[in-house]
Amino acid sequence: MTDTTATGTTPGTTTGTTTGAGDHTADAAVITDMRPASPVVARTRDELSEARSALDDDDVAVVMTMGALHEGHATLIHQARKTHRHVVVTIFLNPLQFGPKEDLSRYPRTFDADLEICTAAGVDVVFAPTPDVIYPDGDPGVRVSAGPLGDVLEGQSRPGHFDGMLTVVGKLMHLTRCSAAYFGQKDAQQLLLIRRMCRDLDFPVRVVAVPTVREPDGLAMSSRNTYLTDSDRETALCLSAALRAGADAAPEGPSAVRRAARAVLVREPLALVDYLVLVHPDTLEDVPEWYRGEALLAVAGRVGTTRLIDNLPVLVGPGGGALETFSQP
Ligand code: AMP
Repeated sequence: MTDTTATGTTPGTTTGTTTGAGDHTADAAVITDMRPASPVVARTRDELSEARSALDDDDVAVVMTMGALHEGHATLIHQARKTHRHVVVTIFLNPLQFGPKEDLSRYPRTFDADLEICTAAGVDVVFAPTPDVIYPDGDPGVRVSAGPLGDVLEGQSRPGHFDGMLTVVGKLMHLTRCSAAYFGQKDAQQLLLIRRMCRDLDFPVRVVAVPTVREPDGLAMSSRNTYLTDSDRETALCLSAALRAGADAAPEGPSAVRRAARAVLVREPLALVDYLVLVHPDTLEDVPEWYRGEALLAVAGRVGTTRLIDNLPVLVGPGGGALETFSQP
């Protein structure tokens, strides 16, 4: 167990040196040390509470992660930083959202590197608890229910996943006392459900979506990409290529989108496609052929031992196409 004292330094100060505001006689260490201050690292509820209370403003945005941070996470942090006075990053591998046959035990754990990214991005507090801190009584008897939207797409392959995800997101919103929370479009169904939870259960939190960050070749960044072998990685490119091909066919209507995307996937037999859908972004129901407007083209599949997901918001109909550029870090 760690002790209950928050560790690290407060952004804006230098280790071992405190200078009052307006102190023009600051010593040389302060003047020359221009490195960003490390975030306060909180491991326990008390440490988080102390670190959170030390922030001088309630304009706090949270970025929730499972660690193994990459440019996608960093982009969420940068976006949050632009608009909010303080940013808290949570790093927590939530056992509640992993099924018994999923990758909880092999999920990459890279805390030191994660902390470097948080430091460079100017994060104020990193909350990195263990499961017993989040679930002191073990499995929580009461959970947030995702409802029917949690049973389709990812929910069909991962029963209970979204209940577990929403339960921890709700808890982390309470514990961090955030006013805003930033999530990636990469996990579109998760984002939709979090928006719904905040609306349906009156969480006073502004949910902000950030477009998917991709590798230069189109692969959506993911902590799970580290599982891919070189040849898996080549295979995995068919997912984003399919989305792009589907979006290019968007002016011709829904079946053209689905056909174009499927044509790319069938050329890659090593990708075991779980689903490829064109759905309404709010209901996740297949859009009918007459539909024109915003839709979500989403794909999931297994490449080697790794399950990958990707999606692209598209405008279906005349002048249509991808609503998200294939951004690069
Ligand atoms: P994770 O650590 O995978 O649970 O992701 C934490 C947050 O980062 C979630 O809101 C994800 O949607 C977001 N995220 C993960 N990968 C990306 C990406 N490539 N682009 C944008 N956001 C991402």
